Amino acid sequence: MTDRAGFEALDPCVHCGFCLPACPTYLATGDESDSPRGRILLMRALERGELPADDPALREHLDACLGCRGCEPVCPAGVGYGRGLAAARDLLVRTNGLPGAARFLLGVFRRRAAWRGGLAAARWLRTLGIPRALAGSGTVGFGLGMLAASGASSALGTRTGGRSKAPPARGRVALFRGCVMDALFRRVHDATRRTLEANGYEVVEVPGQHCCGALHEHAGDRPAAAELVRANAAAFHGRADFVVVNSAGCGALLKDAHHLDGSPEAAALARQTRDVTELLAAAGPRPGAPVPLNVAYDAPCHLEHAQGVRDAPMAVLAAIPKLGVRRLPGSDRCCGSAGIFSLLQPDMSRAVLDGKIVAIRDADPRPALVVTGNPGCLMQIGAGLAAAGLPIGVAHPVEILDLAYERAGFYA
Ligand code: SF4
Ligand code: SF4
Repeated sequence: MTDRAGFEALDPCVHCGFCLPACPTYLATGDESDSPRGRILLMRALERGELPADDPALREHLDACLGCRGCEPVCPAGVGYGRGLAAARDLLVRTNGLPGAARFLLGVFRRRAAWRGGLAAARWLRTLGIPRALAGSGTVGFGLGMLAASGASSALGTRTGGRSKAPPARGRVALFRGCVMDALFRRVHDATRRTLEANGYEVVEVPGQHCCGALHEHAGDRPAAAELVRANAAAFHGRADFVVVNSAGCGALLKDAHHLDGSPEAAALARQTRDVTELLAAAGPRPGAPVPLNVAYDAPCHLEHAQGVRDAPMAVLAAIPKLGVRRLPGSDRCCGSAGIFSLLQPDMSRAVLDGKIVAIRDADPRPALVVTGNPGCLMQIGAGLAAAGLPIGVAHPVEILDLAYERAGFYA
């Protein structure tokens, strides 16, 4: 049997079209070539050599795919769209190379010193308040809005820190820090540690971690993604019972580590990776003190579709008394962030985001916060809300649980 590098995952497609209404890019353009079914035909033609890898139409329609995998759960034939897309993008990049902007960005996230320096500068800019003041709907204003949205929401205030008093009886968990999460969302890491400890987990730090490689894999730079997987698999090997991730994109990549690297360490990393909401839900989680806010949950595609984690975030939010929680209508549909897609395909990204912002604007009751567990979604939705002039914040689920636990006096 020949190694088809993932294209075989597309074989079950019977062209029924059930996936079309679930595809945000098809809904945005109405073009069959921007639908899963249309793209599968293009990818099959690419694999068979019937279309060359530098065919402009092929590249246009595959580049415009978010990789959100919203087409997978609705497919009755079990098509592995994400795996097929990864194979196609790998082939396209090997033939055509990466566009300049993608090459630059992915190069930065390949080297720890480079992304740390760049994101530290972004964090410093955020502390000056300039991004929040200048957030808007133009290209620069939207980018600044994304940076502003990475900061803590005023609806939740600031946590004072402290450690949990619960005995660690549920096992040892290693915290995956990542790149953007560690630089711009460190408060979510702190909340992750505290809430897990309050539910009986021991949380340990692992040195020598790198960016997970999801940005590289989505863009088609498989060798770079595999190199980062190898480095992380070595760093985490034998350190804990679970590897906890609070970024859906990173979690999806790490759970797929064995497809990028055949080592036993990568297989162990894939097996041990859990989203933080999965671990918390497995523990109950302990109820906290009331947080009387209305929130809307929006599911990150790479949690709901790629990892199949649908109920655990709602279980986490249900542990917070007086929190009014609703799933946002269309919460299973992508927000248009999708790694570096929002930078490379800004028009499609904004077209997809517009529907999400309308759903939030029209939600009844209107939420004080949109809650979602992925940095790209938090920044994209937060920027979209700012651009629309809607006074609604964004937060990670564990940030609200952390506030409920602090109010309950769980932390020393
Ligand atoms: S991907 Fe699945 S749902 Fe979409 S056309 Fe093919 S078989 Fe039908
Ligand atoms: S991954 Fe998302 S954008 Fe791409 S075809 Fe599937 S549903 Fe559409």
